[in-house]
Amino acid sequence: MTQNPDAIIIGAGHNSLACACHLVSRGWKVAIYEQNANPGGAVKTGEYTLPGFRHDWAAMNLSLFAGSAFHQQHGAELAQHGLAFAPTANPFASLFPDGKWLGVSSDTALTTARIRGFSDADAAAWTQLTESFPADAEAILGVLGSPMSLRALGTLMGKTWWRRGTAGSLDLARFLTMSSRAWLDQTFENDHVKATLAAWGMHLDFAPDIAGGAVFPYLEGMAGQAFGMVLGQGGADTITSAMVAMIEARGGSVQCGTSVSSIEQVAGRAIGITLSDGTVVRAEKAVIANLSPRGLMKLTGGTGDPRHERAMKTFQHAPGTMMIHLAMDSLPNWPAAELKRFAYVHLAPSMDQMARTYAQAMAGQLPEEPVIVCGQPTVVDPSRAPAGKHILWLQVRMAPGQIKGDAAGTIDARNWQDAAEPFAERALDILERYAPGTRENIIGKHVVTPDMFEADNPNLVGGDQVCGSHHLHQHFMNRPARGYADGTTPIRNLYHTGAAVWPGGGTGAGPGTLLARKLVGN
Ligand SMILES: Cc1cc2nc3c(=O)[nH]c(=O)nc-3n(C[C@H](O)[C@H](O)[C@H](O)COP(=O)(O)OP(=O)(O)OC[C@H]3O[C@@H](n4cnc5c(N)ncnc54)[C@H](O)[C@@H]3O)c2cc1C
Repeated sequence: MTQNPDAIIIGAGHNSLACACHLVSRGWKVAIYEQNANPGGAVKTGEYTLPGFRHDWAAMNLSLFAGSAFHQQHGAELAQHGLAFAPTANPFASLFPDGKWLGVSSDTALTTARIRGFSDADAAAWTQLTESFPADAEAILGVLGSPMSLRALGTLMGKTWWRRGTAGSLDLARFLTMSSRAWLDQTFENDHVKATLAAWGMHLDFAPDIAGGAVFPYLEGMAGQAFGMVLGQGGADTITSAMVAMIEARGGSVQCGTSVSSIEQVAGRAIGITLSDGTVVRAEKAVIANLSPRGLMKLTGGTGDPRHERAMKTFQHAPGTMMIHLAMDSLPNWPAAELKRFAYVHLAPSMDQMARTYAQAMAGQLPEEPVIVCGQPTVVDPSRAPAGKHILWLQVRMAPGQIKGDAAGTIDARNWQDAAEPFAERALDILERYAPGTRENIIGKHVVTPDMFEADNPNLVGGDQVCGSHHLHQHFMNRPARGYADGTTPIRNLYHTGAAVWPGGGTGAGPGTLLARKLVGN
């Protein structure tokens, strides 16, 4: 008779894989069940346009993973299983309708000089931020990487107070609640400088006026300058395949094409799962669910605690994303050749425009001018396309999960099947406006709409790329519900992980790592 696994993990997203890596490294036997044909969830790579052109299906920027506590601990072993990064010193830039551009690079003098081209005062402010970044980052990342337990927070607050004093600690707390616009207006004077940084909030659902958004432009700006950006060598799936290989090498299993239909319980305790073919698999110690709150409710049939159930049912998702994967004869015809060196070029003209785009998407409207994140992976890693060719990773932010109308009044479609083409054309028109002639160089195109994201991975509800809004009421102690931000649930031995759980979305593997450490120690 085969022995039951110690832990069963539902879903093979990168948080599940990171959790499993840590558990198997401590001797646990782990079995992962993934409904999709491939592991990785939002981190996978494929030839979606033409043979030889390798596109990241969703996540492309692996800086959070490369800088994570998980990678610090297990990176050497993962490298033995093929993990390889492609770093760049030119992480991001913004191009504006007037043809001006601003890029952040690892060369501090160069970045500061570019900012000085817009404003002397802003260059001075940037220098000040750069100088205080090491100390400030330690404090901010300390919060963002901490378990959300009262004990851990108490220790952290004591440490912060000891290092920064009362005024410094209160300033930090104030900063964490600020909107991007409040912080940027207070720090910089030039609108292009502000918009260049504010674009990072739009990678989540932090439009410029949302409280708690300031930390994203700040961290991405400063960390981009300090560390550049990290992509996966050959594709973002390098992290997925290396983690799967590590799990299997240590006796664990990752079974794809196997959907879990329910979580089995006896007397308020999770004892295993039922697969969609009716097979029951039992776990000795833990059932770990990498699911959206809605998915958790579906598989448990209810968690037994009315407050937790209410939080799961009312959990709010962020607006969706549309992706356009392009195979290209050449990079976009940017007005400045230097832009061909950056991993990301943001087309996000102003904070006002970003605020409008977000408001329109929240109201169910196709935005008249979505923010475009133009990822240029082949600038960093030419191996992803045949010699001399390129791929583009166009992220179209924001897109409503359910379409109620069109803010520009030109698209009649109210479902994504019909809206995909005209909305993708709207995005490509924007790219063409900034880089005329680019459209002629497109040789392959694959559009992924919000509903396609959800069909591929039910955690991406309405195409929400971070499995839940990170607004303050649903973050920190409240992600996904007060009292359960540590991955526990009201059902004994049932744990919740993935982007819906603190510290949330992105490729930093935070939820999976914190949970694994909770279960087996560091
Ligand atoms: C378009 C897009 C672009 C992004 N870009 C970036 C980026 O550049 N950098 C970055 O840091 N982050 C990015 N993100 C966010 C980041 O990729 C995600 O937050 C992260 O990968 C989520 O990982 P996860 O482990 O929580 O789960 P997921 O990746 O959501 O995986 C969950 C898995 O569970 C499986 N599953 C669900 N239900 C079941 C079931 N019943 N049975 C079996 N399996 C099940 C799903 O199929 C899926 O494979 C992006 C996300 C998207 C969608």
